[in-house]
Amino acid sequence: MNEWLWDYDGYDPATEGQREALCTLGNGYVATRGAASDVDADAVHYPGTYAAGVFNRLTDDVAGRPVVNESIVNLPNWLPLRFRAVGGEWFSLASSTVLDHCVELDLRRAKLSRRSRLQDAAGRIVSITERRFVSLRDQHLMALEVTCVPENFTGRIEAEVALDGTVSNSGIARYEDLDGDHLLGVRSEELSATTIELVVRTNDSDVVVAQAARTRVRLGEGNEVCPERSTRARDRSISQRFSVEVAEGEELIVDKVVSLYTSRDDGIYSAATAAADEIDAAADFDTLLERHATSWAHAWDRCAIELSGDVGHTARVLNLHIFHLLQTISKNTTELDVGVPARGLHGEAYRGHVFWDELFIFPFLTYRVPELTRSLLRYRSRRLDRARDAARAAGYQGAMFPWQSGSDGREETQVVHLNPESGHWLPDASHLQRHINAAIAFNVWHYWQVTTDVEFMRFWGAEMLLEIARFWASAATYNHHLDRYEIKGVMGPDEYHEGYVDRDEPGLDNNAYTNVMAVWCLLRAGDALETVPPFRRSELLEKLEVTHHELDRWADISSKMRLCFHGDRILSQFEGYEDLLELDWERYRSTYGDIGRLDRILEAEGDSPNRYQLAKQADTVMLFYLLSDAELSALFDRLAYEFDDDFVRRNVAYYEQRTSHGSTLSQMVHAWLHSRLDRQRSWDLFRSALSSDINDVQGGTTKEGIHLGAMAGTVDLVQRCYTGLEARDDVLHLNPRLPAGLHRLGFSITYRRQRVQIEVTRSEVTLRTTPDHPGSRPISVDVAGHTATLDEGATLSVPLVSGPAGPGPVMPESG
Ligand code: BGC
Repeated sequence: MNEWLWDYDGYDPATEGQREALCTLGNGYVATRGAASDVDADAVHYPGTYAAGVFNRLTDDVAGRPVVNESIVNLPNWLPLRFRAVGGEWFSLASSTVLDHCVELDLRRAKLSRRSRLQDAAGRIVSITERRFVSLRDQHLMALEVTCVPENFTGRIEAEVALDGTVSNSGIARYEDLDGDHLLGVRSEELSATTIELVVRTNDSDVVVAQAARTRVRLGEGNEVCPERSTRARDRSISQRFSVEVAEGEELIVDKVVSLYTSRDDGIYSAATAAADEIDAAADFDTLLERHATSWAHAWDRCAIELSGDVGHTARVLNLHIFHLLQTISKNTTELDVGVPARGLHGEAYRGHVFWDELFIFPFLTYRVPELTRSLLRYRSRRLDRARDAARAAGYQGAMFPWQSGSDGREETQVVHLNPESGHWLPDASHLQRHINAAIAFNVWHYWQVTTDVEFMRFWGAEMLLEIARFWASAATYNHHLDRYEIKGVMGPDEYHEGYVDRDEPGLDNNAYTNVMAVWCLLRAGDALETVPPFRRSELLEKLEVTHHELDRWADISSKMRLCFHGDRILSQFEGYEDLLELDWERYRSTYGDIGRLDRILEAEGDSPNRYQLAKQADTVMLFYLLSDAELSALFDRLAYEFDDDFVRRNVAYYEQRTSHGSTLSQMVHAWLHSRLDRQRSWDLFRSALSSDINDVQGGTTKEGIHLGAMAGTVDLVQRCYTGLEARDDVLHLNPRLPAGLHRLGFSITYRRQRVQIEVTRSEVTLRTTPDHPGSRPISVDVAGHTATLDEGATLSVPLVSGPAGPGPVMPESG
């Protein structure tokens, strides 16, 4: 099995959308779905192009009320390049007879290739070979080269190249009744005999997007020809046609290099001139491809994970996951003011919004290319004022970040959503997921632990932590009767519970995950103050007007937060959870098969998930995913609640039975939890999480965009969970627990300015350090209880006395 190749054989309209999403090419600045260059958007194909951070708002009338949605914008399709025998119909995957078809994604070089044999209605057959890339090195350039060979005829072949801005956002069937027209035409013109340009503008946010395309034509390798071209410029599209006499078996090769700029880019006069200048200076296809491949080699050098053992399939899927992560977030992203879209730049699901998914995405990035996490955290810090405004507007203090974030950090969560099972538009209370603030604070702190980036902490990190802590303190109310603090009216990560059936207002009280994480945030805010020099600390407290009285209250809240328990010391997901009905899981499974989206099923039955003990995804047990036993037990101690040795196992067992895994994040979290409880189960869940997108386990959602949280989370599981990698209290810990069948794991991380090459086998852990930054200092490590201080250039090998985690299950590799 080639671990660096992702390929499909045969043409299957039913899964074409999923393939397009998984064959998306991107460079952290722009991405284009892997649709064929000869198709338009239709029920099967969807050639979307998205630039990070380019959003637009449209207003619709939904059930008599205006509803505003902000969406990432589907930009003009730069792909169109098609052929026909003069007078015949266009050869296309969508309309020709497909005789052969295969697609190959080269993960190492980030190049997409396709080979098809297509037949038109007159029986003419052509073979079409395509190579395509979106340059990682030259972020504004994308290119495709198509070779057309007439197999059974000789004659004139006509080619058409186009830039098509007549596209709309129409990739999500559920949104089809909503307006998806975001673009207005600005200009389309021929720049030279071989170059055309299209300029459009988003109709509300006024972002100008310019694309310029240069096409070169050859008859066989090396023989450039200059056929006469006819250009057709329209309001939102431009195309060029030309024809060439081609003999049977001869290669007609057309390459199309396209530049793209938006008015959000730095260092330009205008998007239009920048796109035109760039295309004018662009090197040829092969030179650009080589440069692009070199940049990918560098990216893989920092980000790959090597696995040995009976794990070929796993290694291949992990490579695909890392690949899509790096296509969404790359060095190019650091120049932009953008967050991580939950569904990548791979489709229009969730409208390109940014959620808490970065909690699952950042750890991988932080250890590999911390500069990326820093820039993504800056997306949040730049929106701190918005978050302050949101807190004030909702009657709180500090900063309250939105559950869904887009361009400017206002709350973008939809106010109504469509249940496709019932056709009903329903009120959406998911903006009450205030735990997003804990996720942001957690990420700031974890970034600090791994990097000790003093500048970041001084300028932005500490302020974010303090303002988030302040928000939690203002959200907590004191219950005199119990002498405890409570947080009411929120939603936990389990989105199936929106509120109490006997209450009009949505929201739940004392969600365990939220309350514990609020305490954690209050404590970390205090720690953050210790990370900055005293004068900066006073400045910060003065600037934010944090009083001693306020700090005392934080301390009080962090030792008296209320948690609810029921049954055999089960930490209640929220207050009153134990009073809910048990669901007849067997009946639902046998009636519906896939019950991932129980919310939709129950609503369509006229029922509500609010009545039952069930969960869409890991909620309470998220605590065991984020916090170590030691940390959690200290927190419980502080709160004067008992945390016994069996607490984690009992609670995981309780909630697992009641979880439908309706989010792709859920199995990944449970796989992590079971790595300490039941390693076979952990492996099974991990494998299941690995298949989220490649098998489209949610039955049709992958075509709308990949699930970046699950992709990055599965990679991080191998990186941190199976190695026991943890940056805690200024020590880098490693405590491997390799699943059986995995013999060796190797990767490099960046930790506190040193590059640490980590190799874990079943009998030994080896660390090798090299400087990553000038001025690196020695680092403290703890490998399975063996402590050491490593300077740059050091090697440390620690034998694992009884094997990494004792005898374990054998990992099945099939399937
Ligand atoms: C999950 C959320 C997640 C969002 C975006 C939802 O289905 O429930 O936890 O943040 O998808 O990935």
